Amino acid sequence: MVEITTKVLVLGGGPGGYVAAIRAGQRHLDAVLVEERQLGGICLNVGCIPSKALIHAAEAYDHARHQAKSTLFGLRIERPSLDFGKLITWKDGIVARLNTGVAGLLKKSHVKIIRGHGTMLDGKTCRVETDTGPETIRAEHVVLATGSVAATLPSLPFSGRVISSTEALSLSEVPATMAVVGAGYIGLELGMAYAKLGAKVTVIEAADRILPLYDAELTRPVARHLQMLGVETLVNARATGLSDDGDALLVETGGNRREVTAQKILVAIGRKPRTDGWGLERLDLTMSGPFIAIDERCATSMRNVWAIGDVTGEPMLAHRAMAQGEMVGDLVAGQRRAFHKVAIPSICFTDPEIVAVGLAPDEAKAAGYQVRTGLFPFQANGRAMTLGAEDGFVRVTARADNHLVLGIHAVGEGVSELAAAFGLALEMGARLEDVAGTIHAHPTLGEAFHEASLKGLGEALHI
Ligand code: FAD
Repeated sequence: MVEITTKVLVLGGGPGGYVAAIRAGQRHLDAVLVEERQLGGICLNVGCIPSKALIHAAEAYDHARHQAKSTLFGLRIERPSLDFGKLITWKDGIVARLNTGVAGLLKKSHVKIIRGHGTMLDGKTCRVETDTGPETIRAEHVVLATGSVAATLPSLPFSGRVISSTEALSLSEVPATMAVVGAGYIGLELGMAYAKLGAKVTVIEAADRILPLYDAELTRPVARHLQMLGVETLVNARATGLSDDGDALLVETGGNRREVTAQKILVAIGRKPRTDGWGLERLDLTMSGPFIAIDERCATSMRNVWAIGDVTGEPMLAHRAMAQGEMVGDLVAGQRRAFHKVAIPSICFTDPEIVAVGLAPDEAKAAGYQVRTGLFPFQANGRAMTLGAEDGFVRVTARADNHLVLGIHAVGEGVSELAAAFGLALEMGARLEDVAGTIHAHPTLGEAFHEASLKGLGEALHI
């Protein structure tokens, strides 16, 4: 059996793990990365990247179809059509390019990649089943980055027409009908994309509204667009299983039972940490509910065993995993670091998009702050008008006493690109006056951030 000794072992090559390995390599540490599937994890292969490719293509098709009907600015597109196979091939091409890119970055940092399933034997040793036989790796530091898996409904196990987001990203054709169980961001992003591609989509959500983790003011424009797309949304509704012939989804809503015809049923009710099948039981780790408990340095309860990314808790987002990975790479190299982020942005790439950074007004009040808010609608933003995207707004929440910005939220077409400005403002401890005193280029959607801050100060100029 091959035996390797190294300074750092990273189990899992997703955004958390591969970034930790790159940073450890950049700090001139011997690092080994164990990955059983493709480099880049869920995010790159079956998550963030392919879903955004699908969403973009669906949006382009939808636009083209609308242009065929309306000649708002004189453009005529005759009978647009879609080659779905080509779309999937294009999406796969992007993923493949990024896979190669990650491999190249790891190589550049002199990280050794071992392909195969890893099992921890103790807090320092991992056995990997590779194509050429087992290998044992002993390491001074272990970084656990095993990620997450799609949560399942016992009444609707994944099989046949019941699919997870992974299969939804690689269908061979657009289904005529699709049911989406769960109106969180993954369900709605994919559900809206398939509606634009031509599927008749029904969304089933147990809570009383879509995107229940976001405040209602933010989600209203998305609800409107769902309606415009012809998506039927059933709230306070539960999917209970398949009909006897297996052709329809059984849904209970308000005491009534309904059958929803669906060629594909996408179950997107959340994700759970991947804690099974890699020897967690052999480690003496404190857990925090289903997740591995970590402190502000991503240290677990075992010395020199670190954990990052989805396996450590919410928010299960790639940029959190990457930021933790980068920090842990520094920590194992002896640097002093701690994860004290003011905010971790979250984005729904729905139509329109939603960005949430920091506290919403109700959350700020619940945290004991007296707040002032400023909201600027895109209806009053020149750039939004030129894009034909006036539904939405930017909202700034600040402390009433010293005007420290506590949260920035936006909904509207293209607002995902404002997340960087919002995050920077919060991390830099901006006050309303700082944002108001910054020149925002004209005409841009970012001016709505400027104006929302002015509005928070009672001095809005364009509304
Ligand atoms: P993962 O990405 O889950 O990677 C873990 C890796 O570890 C996997 O490659 C796995 O094969 C490997 N592994 C696990 N156990 C072993 C073992 N025993 N041996 C060898 N290898 C092992 N996040 C965003 O920030 N923005 C988005 O737009 C976004 N969109 C998403 C869309 C979808 C459809 C989905 C499903 C997720 C999306 N996410 C998004 C979430 C994001 O993908 C995750 O937060 C992110 O991938 C977590 O990274 P990670 O490194 O913790 O784990």
